[in-house]
Amino acid sequence: MMQQKTMLPQYMRQFACTGTACEDTCCRSWAIFIDKSTYKNYQKVSDSTLKKRLDQNVERVKVNASDQNYAIMKLNDQGACSFLTEEKMCGIQATLGESYLSTTCATYPRNINIVDDTIEVSASMSCPESARLALLNKDPMEFDVIESNNNYKAISSLVRTTASNTIEAHFWEIRIFVISLLQNRNYNLTDRMIILGLFCEKLEESISNEKFELISSLIEEYKVKIANNSFAPLLGQMPQAHHISMQLLSRMVELRSGKGQLNARYKALLDEVIQGFGLEKNDSEYILGRYKEGLELIFAPVLREQEYILENYIVNYVFEKLFLFKKGYSAFQQYIQLVSLLSLIKFHIIGRGLEDGEISPETCVSVIQILSRSLEHNEGYLKQLIGFVEDLKLNPLALMVILIKN
Ligand code: SF4
Repeated sequence: MMQQKTMLPQYMRQFACTGTACEDTCCRSWAIFIDKSTYKNYQKVSDSTLKKRLDQNVERVKVNASDQNYAIMKLNDQGACSFLTEEKMCGIQATLGESYLSTTCATYPRNINIVDDTIEVSASMSCPESARLALLNKDPMEFDVIESNNNYKAISSLVRTTASNTIEAHFWEIRIFVISLLQNRNYNLTDRMIILGLFCEKLEESISNEKFELISSLIEEYKVKIANNSFAPLLGQMPQAHHISMQLLSRMVELRSGKGQLNARYKALLDEVIQGFGLEKNDSEYILGRYKEGLELIFAPVLREQEYILENYIVNYVFEKLFLFKKGYSAFQQYIQLVSLLSLIKFHIIGRGLEDGEISPETCVSVIQILSRSLEHNEGYLKQLIGFVEDLKLNPLALMVILIKN
């Protein structure tokens, strides 16, 4: 098999599925799609008992089918894949071997992108083991480039950086700048995210005016301002508006409840959050008071002592999602998505912390994993978050700053 240049965060080298020990197996509570080639292989299985089970449990997709989403696995009464054994092992892999796994099952939790001639491999934080490995490391996330002969079939996105006069031509400058900013511990994470927003707004201007040649000088200008602390006066004046933040976040949580099924772990977390804030009381003054209390007693210590967890989450997100290069979204819309997800993480950490009294690093990672599983894989919901912010017809950067700061 041909060796291929592969870029990956260092935690990926340690990753191994925990299988039977996994507390949130990916074989449960999810649509498990089967690609066309795997489906055809299932049609040719010679063992008659197994063939009958495959025929009964693998259904062709009838609407919007594609080669990747060609068929779907039926889930059993417990919401698990019909082939998940009592020992929480994959029955298809155990009987037919790894080559019979669908590309989805063979790839998860890995996310594969291709940038020119390099394969980029990262992991979704929706997998508990990858979340622990990636997020609990106190050092800034580092990346390696290696030669590898893995033959990944499920490619999420492709970027070509060679076409001039496009944003893609500035891919590496932008990515290196964004990750360096996010890992610049001379600034607290809140300020790093606000500076990122200011940058994304300017970048958006250059892109929409097709002034791609201005991107390099914009990055240089920001590097100098960051080094000279020139943003300090602006960062000091950012607004306090907890009530707006609380309203926006409550609404974002409600929107999720109406967008697809909630898995059991998310439901349990949500119940704790509802209890923590006292949301069932319907008393806005009381709820706002709880939110402010939670920011001070729960989230401020998280930012002080566990900021690296959130930083790692954001850096992984930037790498995994090709942040600012996601097709179908403007640069600023991608920033809205990132800030919304982070703010929802904050909201759930606070709610859970108010209920439990404190948040350990492991609980913080667990909240992020549950949310990543429930929100990040739901493209309809992610789009809805942007629509929700844009429909408010207010300055979106100001709204994002309110969400970050409050
Ligand atoms: S979620 Fe991660 S650790 Fe759990 S079964 Fe899936 S790949 Fe393995």
